Amino acid sequence: MPPQSASTSSGTPPPIRVHILGAGPVGLILTALLQPTERFSVHLYEKRRDYTRTRMVQLASSLVAESVESYCTDYIDQESVQAVFDPKEISNVLAFRESVPSDLKTLLRGWTQGFCPLNAIERSLSDLIDARQSHPVQRTTAVVTAEDAVAMLEPGDILIDCTGARSVLRDQLVPGADAASGANTYTIRLEYALVITFLYGQAYECNESCKYYKNIENAHYKFIPAVNRTFYDGSVSHVTGIVNISAEDYERMPSQFDGQWLRDNFAHVAESMDRFIAKIKQETNGEIVGDLEIIRIPLQLYHARNATSREWRRTRTGDHPFSRSPAFLVGDSAMGSPYFQSISLGFECAMFLAALLAERDLDLGDVLDRYELYAYKQWLRVYMRSKMIKHNKDLLECVGNDDALLEKLHIY
Ligand SMILES: Cc1cc2nc3c(=O)[nH]c(=O)nc-3n(C[C@H](O)[C@H](O)[C@H](O)COP(=O)(O)OP(=O)(O)OC[C@H]3O[C@@H](n4cnc5c(N)ncnc54)[C@H](O)[C@@H]3O)c2cc1C
Repeated sequence: MPPQSASTSSGTPPPIRVHILGAGPVGLILTALLQPTERFSVHLYEKRRDYTRTRMVQLASSLVAESVESYCTDYIDQESVQAVFDPKEISNVLAFRESVPSDLKTLLRGWTQGFCPLNAIERSLSDLIDARQSHPVQRTTAVVTAEDAVAMLEPGDILIDCTGARSVLRDQLVPGADAASGANTYTIRLEYALVITFLYGQAYECNESCKYYKNIENAHYKFIPAVNRTFYDGSVSHVTGIVNISAEDYERMPSQFDGQWLRDNFAHVAESMDRFIAKIKQETNGEIVGDLEIIRIPLQLYHARNATSREWRRTRTGDHPFSRSPAFLVGDSAMGSPYFQSISLGFECAMFLAALLAERDLDLGDVLDRYELYAYKQWLRVYMRSKMIKHNKDLLECVGNDDALLEKLHIY
């Protein structure tokens, strides 16, 4: 850990200043985890004044797992989790989680039940931080640039970048590289897609055969609801479907629109969506509640090759503040995956980092190395998971067309 500066007159060292950039879900949970610790004084910087993102998100049940076995239980990538993480490593994480304040644990348990609006997660965390009586967090509403962040660092401070996919610091973590070059970001584009969400007035579940049979007449554009994408709130289901589109389609669409716009402008894509929905209705006798919400996005898988300022410390380049004070990337600033696991990944890394920082006797070099390794393992896990989902999705889309299917099979 960074050396604490001189003791106060009472003999207790002054708290270490932790600057957290970005109060999205990940910056907020990290703040809520570090706030109760005497050793730290947390400063949280956020450019937005209000939480307005209403999209529904789902969190992984591993966030509230109580045993190594339940942590690894996942029907998509159980084996990968077991291959990548040592049981000892997982039990250390679980041991730390026991010290997570109960107010926060209760919130996490609720969010892992099913879909929640993103801004409900953000508001609850933000309110929890503000309501705590001891160790108030200093909050600043401002756009923070990389230059601001570096300038505010005093020796011994800790800087944590939670500014999301367009991270403020990611490409500053490689000494000597041009920050604009993206030198520290590795990106794989999986597909361009429409993400179509709606509420459906009945309980509705969709397994792989449902995904296949409801798409049988959709020759080109398949509507694929992601597995486990339904949330039961009474008898209402939340459905999110992904439709693979071409780069040309993507360029010709606005970033956000409704079902009618799609019908008016991309009839073939809309037909496949409507056909799928008609079959759900036929099967379950329900209706869509409200309108369809559609966004078009490039589905990308990416990570920061360096998730910390370790390289600056190693090379001791000039008098750069990162040579003296550590910086970490957490959440979407460190890595992102397209198939709905990013917040959980960010929360996992936030909990791990909070546990490392709480260990008083750990050398700063060890903290940096261990966080790098953990972030890399989370990347490996999400890389394998996302590639597998994409590959299986590609295969599902051509079931029934033997030639197309065989083309996608790579055996040995
Ligand atoms: C359609 C869609 C559906 C999704 N569904 C899911 C899902 O089901 N499950 C899931 O886990 N994930 C989902 N995601 C992804 C999820 O929303 C993100 O992974 C998550 O929001 C990342 O959290 P974060 O805190 O790391 O970053 P962000 O949420 O991006 O927060 C970053 C914060 O930093 C602030 N900030 C940025 N730059 C600056 C600056 N220069 N100065 C000050 N403040 C700054 C921003 O205002 C923001 O508040 C979905 C994404 C999309 C687009």
